Amino acid sequence: TVYEESMAKISARFETVRNELHHAIERNELFVVFQPLMEISNSGVAGFEALVRWDSPRLGSVSPVEFIPLAEKTGLIDAVSTVVLKHISSQIRDWKRRGYCVPPISFNLSPSTLENVDGAEKFLIQLETYGLCPGDLVLEFTETAVIHNEEVVAENIRVLARHGFRIALDDFGTGYSSLENLYKLHISKLKIDKSFVFKIKGSVKHANIVRGLISMARSIDLNVIAEGVESEDQLEMLREWGCDMAQGYIFAKPMLPADAERYLEAA
Ligand code: C2E
Ligand code: CA
Ligand code: CA
Ligand code: CA
Repeated sequence: TVYEESMAKISARFETVRNELHHAIERNELFVVFQPLMEISNSGVAGFEALVRWDSPRLGSVSPVEFIPLAEKTGLIDAVSTVVLKHISSQIRDWKRRGYCVPPISFNLSPSTLENVDGAEKFLIQLETYGLCPGDLVLEFTETAVIHNEEVVAENIRVLARHGFRIALDDFGTGYSSLENLYKLHISKLKIDKSFVFKIKGSVKHANIVRGLISMARSIDLNVIAEGVESEDQLEMLREWGCDMAQGYIFAKPMLPADAERYLEAA
């Protein structure tokens, strides 16, 4: 049947990507791009988000939307995270050495990294190995349906926060993130997912939700970041509602380090 054929195609693709990703890690096919986070009030650069990219000689460019969930399912995510952390660390060092003032870099922390009781400890040791200090990073954490040990994950986040790392709750509004966790987890930033931001101009309901989220977050002293800002209209609405920061194509797409450094200032 058509259904069986398409299922077979999906699982064949999964196997191919899994095998290739394994080699990609060893062969240095993964790299990192940087997208600025802008202060809405003064258009200053408040940070960068590090986003992983993969150019495969056999598969072409593969989106993280495809290979990150696959890496999480197949146990390759820790290896991917290590590559990303190494890139961030050496980029920060390079920029500092060349006299730039480097704002915090946001790193997408995989929830599975924090599922074991010693997850935070292991992660802290890794950060120390790469010379990454709390001030260098913001840890972006996404709640997903597949988190197994919610209590363990929450405790690990508290440990990271106690060590001084700033935590941002990522993809807020996408369904798994809950208001309860704004209190339970020690987070200092809230990122509103682009699927909401995309609709604030066209849908009164989405506009009201986002405006409400911003005012609620600010009332408990959370820094709010809107992701996926593409138009002046969206930016103007977010500014009016008191949103702190914006990230999106209106400012810049994720860029290679050489292009990203135009957004940096001399220290
Ligand atoms: P995310 O963490 O929600 O990252 C934001 C995504 O929105 C990025 O997609 C970024 O390129 C995209 N984006 C930013 N501004 C705009 C805009 O104005 N318009 C549109 N259409 N898109 C915009 P990207 O780079 O494809 O990454 C997708 C997802 O893959 C990320 O979503 C994150 O969940 C995951 N990911 C990316 N890099 C890493 C990584 O190093 N580690 C882990 N664990 N996950 C990663
Ligand atoms: Ca993110
Ligand atoms: Ca998102
Ligand atoms: Ca995410």
